[in-house]
Amino acid sequence: MSDFDAANRRLEELLSCVDEPRAPRAGKRLYCGLDLGTAFIVLVVLDEDGGPVDCKYQFAGVVRDGMVVDYVGACDIARGLKEQVESELGVELGECAVAIPPQTESLDGGVVRNVAESCGLECTAVFDEPTAANLLLGVQNGAVVDIGGGTTGISVFRDGEVVRCVDESTGGTHFSLVLAGAKGMSFDDAELYKRAPEHHAEVLPIVAPTIDKVTTIIQRACEDYDVPEVVLVGGTAELSGIEGRVASRLGMEVHKPSHPMFVTPMGIALGCALKARERRDA
Ligand code: ATP
Repeated sequence: MSDFDAANRRLEELLSCVDEPRAPRAGKRLYCGLDLGTAFIVLVVLDEDGGPVDCKYQFAGVVRDGMVVDYVGACDIARGLKEQVESELGVELGECAVAIPPQTESLDGGVVRNVAESCGLECTAVFDEPTAANLLLGVQNGAVVDIGGGTTGISVFRDGEVVRCVDESTGGTHFSLVLAGAKGMSFDDAELYKRAPEHHAEVLPIVAPTIDKVTTIIQRACEDYDVPEVVLVGGTAELSGIEGRVASRLGMEVHKPSHPMFVTPMGIALGCALKARERRDA
């Protein structure tokens, strides 16, 4: 079983930077991860040792089913987050990596890269989301499942290498739609209601059929592989108890790091730092 203590410590540090950014250490380069999602756009800034420096995010409706549908809106939000970080830190941000759902490189990889570059960032790498998440988690054998807003992406790892990578369009947006129907709420109200931890015990049984759909997607992705553990990340994995429901249906060990919504954005920024190190060592 993977040990997530180190990843959890880094996530705690990252979350503490949202309200209190760290002053960048003199002479240390900064690396960014920009995650353009169906529900949130997140910008993570790390120093060259992978230490969290700043993190900003905004709820946004510029991506649908993993595809950018409002390019100008995405650029505006990304620029706003970058400018906020730059004014907090008093430095100009440079290198950045981005991520896209698995199997969408030919459709959307260039668009996401262009969003980053439109706000003056130099995009040095495009990762698929669950593979980026694993740069933080370090799962050697198992499946990393990124349950986002619009889609669920799964990377299966054997000896630390990706052997399968898939994406299906079911995510937290579908949970909110089910909740809206069940409680007679608007989608926006259901989205907010669902996110409040005090509502999770009530929400879990209502969205159980949609959790089971996600579980079937995980099952299909893993069926041809020996998968000793499944790790849930992504904002939808923030729902308390989702891991228990998935585990009981899947019959596999299921784990969840703390703050699963920030695993992929932090992994993307770690990937940016990693690529820079590879270029320096080449
Ligand atoms: P995608 O990867 O599908 O493009 P995304 O990157 O926006 O989407 P995430 O930011 O990982 O995805 O997750 C967004 C989803 O997580 C939304 O549906 C949101 O409602 C859900 N979410 C966020 N926080 C919570 C919470 N505390 N409880 C339940 N769901 C949550």
